[in-house]
Amino acid sequence: MKLVLLGAPGAGKGTQAVFLKERHGLAHISTGDILRHNLNQGTPLGLEAKKYMDKGELVPDEVVMQMIGERLDSLKPDEGFMLDGFPRTVKQAEFLESKTKIDGVIMFTVSDDDIVKRLLNRAVCRSCGAITNWDNDKCPSCGGELYRRADDNEETIRSRLKVFHEQTEALIEFYKARKLLLEVDATGMPEEIFERVIGLLSHDKN
Ligand code: AMP
Repeated sequence: MKLVLLGAPGAGKGTQAVFLKERHGLAHISTGDILRHNLNQGTPLGLEAKKYMDKGELVPDEVVMQMIGERLDSLKPDEGFMLDGFPRTVKQAEFLESKTKIDGVIMFTVSDDDIVKRLLNRAVCRSCGAITNWDNDKCPSCGGELYRRADDNEETIRSRLKVFHEQTEALIEFYKARKLLLEVDATGMPEEIFERVIGLLSHDKN
């Protein structure tokens, strides 16, 4: 199965990807994670990306398309995957279409107010990468130390949301036209949302 997870930052794509990985054994390909990894390693790609990420803007299409192209080429033949955070522009979606055939696009819908609240409360585990919130003082999965992502501050969150509405939302029509869009209400507890996702995917198969 080849899926795209679409939705505003903080809509829960990363959290649902962990569930989907457990259930379907799909590779989780997150452009944000790959970029942050490069940034932490101080690679030229990471240093270039940082300029945009700090402001909540999109890293240029060419940079991200090359990066994701290499990652897709490294998959085993027929290996299933989920793309989390890619595509984010129509140009990126066209590039993806030229590389491979996607089976479905899950669109996670949440209001902007909820997004801001969620992202301001988002905590990430330094040891295992689990996404949690500041109601915990350590990682509920492994006990590791928690940190706040550099771009999870109100100003950057607002620009990321603006970018989402201006550039990424156009992908809803793009994928609707290809009859690939599966819309899920992403409010509520992660487990409830996952039930909805499973329902949608099984319905889609029939
Ligand atoms: P995320 O972890 O998906 O919220 O992404 C964090 C940041 O990485 C975004 O705000 C962008 O600056 C950058 N980024 C991630 N994916 C992409 C993409 N597909 N195109 C352009 N920039 C991206």
